[in-house]
Amino acid sequence: QPTEFDVIIIGAGAAGLMCASTAGYRSKRVLVLDNAKKAGRKILIAGGGKCNFTNVKVEPQHFICNNPHFVKSALARYPSSDFIELVERHGIDYEERDHGQLFCQHSAKDIVDMLLTECEWAQVDIRLRHEIIEIERHNSGFTLATNQGDFSCASLVIASGGLSMPKLGATPFGYKLAEQFGISVAPTRAGLVPFTLHDHDKQRFEPLSGVSLPVEVSAQNGVKFVRDLLFTHRGLSGPAALQISNYWQPGESLSINFLPETDALSLLEQLSIKKPKQSLKNALARVLPKRLVETIIDDSALQDTALNQLSNAQKALIEQCVHAFQFKPNATEGYRTAEVTLGGVNTDELSSKTMEAKQVAGLYFIGEVVDVTGWLGGFNFQWAWSSAVACGLGVR
Ligand code: FAD
Repeated sequence: QPTEFDVIIIGAGAAGLMCASTAGYRSKRVLVLDNAKKAGRKILIAGGGKCNFTNVKVEPQHFICNNPHFVKSALARYPSSDFIELVERHGIDYEERDHGQLFCQHSAKDIVDMLLTECEWAQVDIRLRHEIIEIERHNSGFTLATNQGDFSCASLVIASGGLSMPKLGATPFGYKLAEQFGISVAPTRAGLVPFTLHDHDKQRFEPLSGVSLPVEVSAQNGVKFVRDLLFTHRGLSGPAALQISNYWQPGESLSINFLPETDALSLLEQLSIKKPKQSLKNALARVLPKRLVETIIDDSALQDTALNQLSNAQKALIEQCVHAFQFKPNATEGYRTAEVTLGGVNTDELSSKTMEAKQVAGLYFIGEVVDVTGWLGGFNFQWAWSSAVACGLGVR
């Protein structure tokens, strides 16, 4: 006979643990199953080990989803202020960094410990190293066959995450299960991920490896971000690259404004009044990293002319190279280094109030497995918390 529970949650990650305690506090008998050795492994490595667990300001426009309204209900029901309150109740020290990002002061482990403590208080049963072999639906719910016995439940919650970082145990489990039950899945691709270079760009950009500066980066669809860009030996990284990767399609170019706050031509004009003989390279190097200036000038066939001798054609080229530098990535680094997975279980198939599948009563999807992807800055965890609470309060 399978061991019976009210709710079984597959995935002891951010969303799964949060949902488990929420349902447990409602006196549901909750079991969390995970095939990993440890709970919350992605939380532990998130934010460089400090976990950017949410953001001060979380709004629906910080998420990518085929239906921009889908996230509203869950975010309103469990906003970031509620999670901050939980963190404070557990006495976890945290700090605000730029763009409203909240990080643990000591360690991401504080967040995992907090979630596990909540689960313990809510009498949740967490079982790791369980491989799910088969799931069957019957009149009163679901039966799960695992390598360590069979379990049954009225409500089954899929919180198995996305495909990013397969080394940390990411699997397509959730998508396959959705398909098994006839639920559509939006095509998946790596998100919040660095870009790689075409072979012909490798030599050109090699000298820039390690250069970092604030830029405005735009995708072809017009979406733009002002964040730090980092040139690496592989390509482009840093928050600006990761953010825009969510909006980039293979084959497209990015436009980079290296001086988002300053008009390059006015600056050069002012400098040329004071120092007309100053070279273009030296003038630009006052406001941009020297290695970048050298690459821009060498690359664009701009000659290193004295400021008072710049022709109109050269000025137009400077404008273009500094404010609208065109970069065509080869690809992204893919799931190996991506922070998230774009696409996933189609939100049209789910109730935005409870995350229950409209066509399969008792089956729920939460967290990253759903076709909701947040910006960089704590928004992906906030989606995990909010969707988990919506579900935890809704499960039967
Ligand atoms: P996960 O946390 O991935 O949990 C899924 C769980 O399901 C895992 O425990 C996994 O073992 C289990 N599982 C998978 N397949 C199976 C299976 N077949 N059987 C049983 N169990 C299974 N977001 C932020 O907001 N801020 C950050 O600072 C941040 N930093 C990140 C850094 C890195 C390097 C990465 C990779 C991601 C980062 N993210 C960050 C994104 C964030 O980690 C995810 O959005 C979030 O963890 C999603 O939560 P989840 O519960 O849906 O999935």
